Amino acid sequence: MIVDFVTVGPFEENCYLVTDESAGTAVLVDPGDDGGEIEAMAARRGVAPSAVWLTHAHLDHIGAVSAVRRAWPGIPVHLHPADALVYAYAERAAASYGLRFEQPEPPECELAEGQIMELGSLRFAVMHVPGHAPGHVAFVGEGIALAGDCIFNGSVGRTDLPLSDPNAFVGSLDRLLGLPDATVIHPGHGPRTTIGRERHSNPFLLGAVVVPGTARRVSGAVLRDLNA
Ligand SMILES: [Zn+2]
Ligand SMILES: [Zn+2]
Repeated sequence: MIVDFVTVGPFEENCYLVTDESAGTAVLVDPGDDGGEIEAMAARRGVAPSAVWLTHAHLDHIGAVSAVRRAWPGIPVHLHPADALVYAYAERAAASYGLRFEQPEPPECELAEGQIMELGSLRFAVMHVPGHAPGHVAFVGEGIALAGDCIFNGSVGRTDLPLSDPNAFVGSLDRLLGLPDATVIHPGHGPRTTIGRERHSNPFLLGAVVVPGTARRVSGAVLRDLNA
């Protein structure tokens, strides 16, 4: 497995290209902006992505969906249905930031909790982790988590956006902390990290900082460590 990425657009979003080199197949995760950069990444790797997997539908994660569809006609786009409204309003959200935005046609495929996504010999489970966005998912498998805007290196996703749910988000963070420490997190923004590193150093996950909008602290996994 090879995980490439390019950082695109004004929100510096990470678009990932996950390749099973033995099968010569690849998928794109969160093509957020700058289709040319994304095409160049696939060309460097020598693959044509067979699908688009979206962690969620914020404008900084879907801004190049139309460009990707032009580059690879017929490529199916996968999104959890709870983010359909976020997807539909992306252009208006972009306008509120004064950004030019190409509103993509609706996604073709619906993701569901527990669904297994196949990529050649690789397998990823869909984990529904709402809160930052209602239909946010993580793709978890092969020792990695493509985790979108949940856990960042040293921080967590915003919960002050339209349709955010801070309390649901805390539950989702707790759930992600149930993954093994060695799991490599490929986040939607910023450098990659691991579950273990964030469990032991991320101020939001240590309970040192509360997630805005909720009194709940994310501390279950840390408490388990202390009891061990
Ligand atoms: Zn987001
Ligand atoms: Zn984002």
